[in-house]
Amino acid sequence: MSDCLFCKIAAGEIPAKKIFEDDDVIAFHDIHPVAPVHFLVVPKVHVDSLAHATAEHQAVLGKMLLLTAKLAKEQGLDDGYRTIINTGHGGGQTFFHLHMHVIGGKPLTTNISDITTQ
Ligand code: 5GP
Ligand code: ZN
Repeated sequence: MSDCLFCKIAAGEIPAKKIFEDDDVIAFHDIHPVAPVHFLVVPKVHVDSLAHATAEHQAVLGKMLLLTAKLAKEQGLDDGYRTIINTGHGGGQTFFHLHMHVIGGKPLTTNISDITTQ
């Protein structure tokens, strides 16, 4: 995916404030944080969205979840955090390379209805 922002970040072609990287996954701070801690956990393989993931992505998806818990702890989110995967236009996704937001460091809404626009 030559024109994909997150592929370019994963390839090191575009800089990012990286907090983790291995062969499969990269994690970096969101450029427009919505909370004191807001980072993205991204598989290096290009997958348009969670809706496009298949069985071949099972291992990397599991790795992303476990890594998220480890990185959240390292980022000081001892009191908890929120993970969000926006999927498709209807789900609010704007960059079409699967990624998980990890957000915390300030009180978050307790009612799931607060994150919808209606
Ligand atoms: P989405 O809306 O697709 O779930 O989230 C895309 C996220 O990527 C947004 O929170 C946006 O701030 C972030 N983002 C967009 N461009 C860049 C960039 O160049 N660098 C970083 N680190 N984050 C970006
Ligand atoms: Zn990509």
